[in-house]
Amino acid sequence: MKRLPEYPAEVREVLRRLNMSGHEAYVVGGCVRDMLRGMEPHDYDVASSAEPGEVKEIFSRLGTVDVGILHGTVGVKTESGSIVEVTAFRRDGTYSDFRRPDFVTFTKNIEDDLSRRDFTINSIAADIDGNTVDPFGGANDLKAHLIRCTGDAERRFSEDALRIMRALRFASILDFKIEERTKEAIHEKKELLLKIAPERVFSELKKMLCGRGVFRVLTEFSDVVCTVIPELSPSVGFEHKSKYHIYDVYTHTAKAIEASPPQRGVRLALLFHDSGKPYCFTEECGVRHFKGHPEASEKIAETALRRLRCDSKTLNEIGFLCKMHDMTIVPEEKSVRRLMSKYTFEQIEKLCAVREADSEAHSPEFRGRGEEAREILKIAERIQSEKQCVSRGDMEVNGRDVMEFGFSGAEVGRVLQILLDKVISGEAENERESLLGLIEKIREER
Ligand code: ATP
Ligand code: MG
Repeated sequence: MKRLPEYPAEVREVLRRLNMSGHEAYVVGGCVRDMLRGMEPHDYDVASSAEPGEVKEIFSRLGTVDVGILHGTVGVKTESGSIVEVTAFRRDGTYSDFRRPDFVTFTKNIEDDLSRRDFTINSIAADIDGNTVDPFGGANDLKAHLIRCTGDAERRFSEDALRIMRALRFASILDFKIEERTKEAIHEKKELLLKIAPERVFSELKKMLCGRGVFRVLTEFSDVVCTVIPELSPSVGFEHKSKYHIYDVYTHTAKAIEASPPQRGVRLALLFHDSGKPYCFTEECGVRHFKGHPEASEKIAETALRRLRCDSKTLNEIGFLCKMHDMTIVPEEKSVRRLMSKYTFEQIEKLCAVREADSEAHSPEFRGRGEEAREILKIAERIQSEKQCVSRGDMEVNGRDVMEFGFSGAEVGRVLQILLDKVISGEAENERESLLGLIEKIREER
């Protein structure tokens, strides 16, 4: 049995007190999985034979919070101010909503508790000394890089269909394979995902997109992805018939996602960036063109993301990235300054990441956009560090100066815009005297 590293002091303390009071107590789930992989867990969950009332009593001096009493979870406040969640060993009752058990019953047996958990790698417990309880062979599956349902896969997905998305998420994040029967059950039960709250599906989808195994998961489980985002169905197997591409639209999409930095906004945008292609292509002499596809993709992204209850800030960002992913941008200071007058540096940074990744997924002879995107970003960085003028606020003259020349109302804004355009294009210097001269000239020509 593998010994685990020491737990944080406050977790040890919680385990110790529970043990001292005559209860079994283990760390369990994700933290054990991570420790066995040699990774530092981001949090520790404790499972105990103590029921919530007993946990509250044992820790009454430190203080507790009712995190989810109905499901047996009590939060224990620790000396350091953090909270350790202690959940009573439990069995789940029947499921009638494909998501949550109708009721839970407490049990005194850790193995019962482990058997209600989703995957074997998440169904391992470890006591205060680091001895593991692993009735489903989770440690072996960890070594073999396998995601396998704890118990009968079809039944487990029917109980709670979100587990389908969790399986894909873990397969992608850990870069593990999904075991054969679990995989079959996923394909078989995918439609149950439509009964799950969209925001929960979306939350798993976003995590899945950022994993190292994302290409494999997206292509092997395109049917699952298209169950939650049916708008992507026409992309699967849709040939580009173009010298710029060697993959069909969906495979190109998955390749681009894999080539991009693991940022949610960038990867979500790439998921949708070419989704409009099958809806707006023309074909001449066996060659396809996709004029207007960025706008079509933007609309598709909006529809799909709204359905997934995406927040509006992300939604706007994805829309912008889809719309701009294929637009001509000359890697020169004046074009980049123009871009920077309209969008924030962070938006441009993401746009460059999208364009670079998109380019990586093109035919090898047509990957020049990648170099170009890096160049655009470099120029943007320079413009920012030199504090070059890209907005009205950066200009050496303001509205009051313009009014001194007799302009009023909406004219003031128009004059400032003319000046800014000239500065951005490099026709004028952002220098007070010469800008005042320009205002004078505009007045004369009025
Ligand atoms: P993460 O690193 O994302 O926190 P995790 O495995 O800890 O991964 P959590 O959602 O925090 O995931 O869940 C904690 C544990 O609870 C899991 O390891 C698993 O044992 C169990 N669990 C979580 N969700 C489910 C579910 N839908 N069905 C069954 N067991 C679940
Ligand atoms: Mg967790």
